[in-house]
Amino acid sequence: MECAVCGSPVHQYEQITTNHETTDYYFCSDEHKEEFESLSGEFTK
Ligand SMILES: [Zn+2]
Repeated sequence: MECAVCGSPVHQYEQITTNHETTDYYFCSDEHKEEFESLSGEFTK
């Protein structure tokens, strides 16, 4: 899986995930999780 923000590979043993409208997203870092959540309106329609 890849970081939903920057596309970097996400290691399974350090998964940082969020669930948005029944879809799971993975992140390389807490920073990118927060960034995604702050921008989530632009990622979904
Ligand atoms: Zn990232």
